[in-house]
Amino acid sequence: MPYARENNATQAEIDTSEIFGSGAFKIVHAGTYTRGTRSGQKCVSKEFKTGCVVESHYFDEELNICAKAQKILDAFNEASIINQEIHLNTPEVWTYLPGCNKAGQKSLIEPMILNFEKFNSNSGWAATDTTGWASAMQALSHFSYHNSAGQFLLCDLQGGRYNNGYVLSDPVIMSRVQNCGPADLGMDGIMSFFQRHKCGAFCKRDWSKPPVLGKAKIPMREGTTMEAYLPTRSSRTPMTNLQRIRE
Ligand SMILES: [Zn+2]
Repeated sequence: MPYARENNATQAEIDTSEIFGSGAFKIVHAGTYTRGTRSGQKCVSKEFKTGCVVESHYFDEELNICAKAQKILDAFNEASIINQEIHLNTPEVWTYLPGCNKAGQKSLIEPMILNFEKFNSNSGWAATDTTGWASAMQALSHFSYHNSAGQFLLCDLQGGRYNNGYVLSDPVIMSRVQNCGPADLGMDGIMSFFQRHKCGAFCKRDWSKPPVLGKAKIPMREGTTMEAYLPTRSSRTPMTNLQRIRE
């Protein structure tokens, strides 16, 4: 995939004693790749807050959303709307090795992003900065709706700046048919997004928008608004090894 940032590694050591970050339904641990091209570089391990041993459909759904997001992003890059590239972190499902507290559990591994910042959310919150990358990201969301003929909206855009462009992680796709996971708020979400979206320097005038009528149905939040609430489960375990297993 031309605009994908991949693990390029097969094993990592994850510090599960500390929570590096926490999302709407995942917790994140930091780690270091120990085998492969990225050996020595930092990675993150994203784990679902409910028991993450058997719920493989969560992982499948996550990877499907990521693949769909990658296609949208590839189209945006190919359209040369901005003069730098936006890449997407590609997570893989890895499994904790035997002999540790999390043995057999699965998690999503991807390269760590430094200087993490967030540009918009799935309820239409947008960073107040309207220049540079912030403006480009709002345009990417608007483009995704236009380019999919109103089927999808790529949002919850967050990531980090690199020398040769930008790397995004964990975006949300909202869809007309509402089949892209718990953060897909369907047409209510898409409409709420556009009720708050202000076209900036990179949005094209002829890009389509849904008809925006009345008040937004979804309250505006910087965080990710979810359809389903998953209860939390804390875990405190020492340094743990994990490895990619091809299935
Ligand atoms: Zn726009």
